[in-house]
Amino acid sequence: MGVAAVTGSASGIGAAVRRRLESDGDRVVGVDLRDADVEADLSTRLGRDAATNGVLDACGGRLDRLVLCAGLGSHVDDLSAIVSVNYFGTVELLDSLLEALRCGERPAAVAICSNAAQIVAFDDHPLVKAMLAGDEAGARDAAAAENGFVAYAASKHALSRALRRRAVAWGDAGVRLNGIAPGATETPLLRGTEQHPVWGRGLESLAIPLGRRAQPDEIATIVAFLLGPGADYVHGSIWYADGGTDAAIRPDRF
Ligand code: NAD
Repeated sequence: MGVAAVTGSASGIGAAVRRRLESDGDRVVGVDLRDADVEADLSTRLGRDAATNGVLDACGGRLDRLVLCAGLGSHVDDLSAIVSVNYFGTVELLDSLLEALRCGERPAAVAICSNAAQIVAFDDHPLVKAMLAGDEAGARDAAAAENGFVAYAASKHALSRALRRRAVAWGDAGVRLNGIAPGATETPLLRGTEQHPVWGRGLESLAIPLGRRAQPDEIATIVAFLLGPGADYVHGSIWYADGGTDAAIRPDRF
């Protein structure tokens, strides 16, 4: 049917997205640290350039769909890497692959955000401001001075705003762009968080009104919908897919 690029394709949600898009008939160019068509480290500028060039080579400069799943959880030791991968590794690929998407058929992109993005008041947070200003060195320093949960949640907050800030330009370019904010989803990243002595307890304390965690395939189903013709008028939105956790925490905000 078309050509799709998927980052984080080797594991969890990205692997489920890959399977889903392939079963729908797409040729998928997977990007990941290993076990991928394009092996690149999205935590560095050089790695992002290599990822972009690898995708452009594989798709011949014409891309129909882009799904950005690569990410690190709050449990990792290197907090600076969280902002480099989750924020810069996502927005830089969005921007560097926009021209290829413009050449695609009914082109659309989806980035995986998180329902953690609104748990802390981040509006004027210096870490979020540094990311949105494109100051990776400053954001890495600011993240290193925070804890893992704040670094992770801030990266997803800034990413969600970066997506919405692109709605006008991407709409003009004819490329739809949306985010999905999953809650707890059964993947290696979630298992890493569960095993963390502090963030594991935080995770357990979060209410999930539907009473269970998501499976990666359930998130992939929403990705496929947002990329497809049924969502032709959906653009610039962040879709929560978290079993109701965000509504339970912030019932009067949306
Ligand atoms: P996962 O660990 O199963 O998969 C993440 C993938 O990203 C891995 O394949 C990993 O190799 C890749 N990756 C990490 N660092 C990279 C780098 N420097 N360069 C290239 N690739 C790199 O995790 P997941 O749960 O499937 O996470 C997918 C996305 O969903 C992430 O952005 C995560 O923040 C988000 N998310 C997950 C949950 C959850 O509960 N699992 C909830 C909300 C949001």
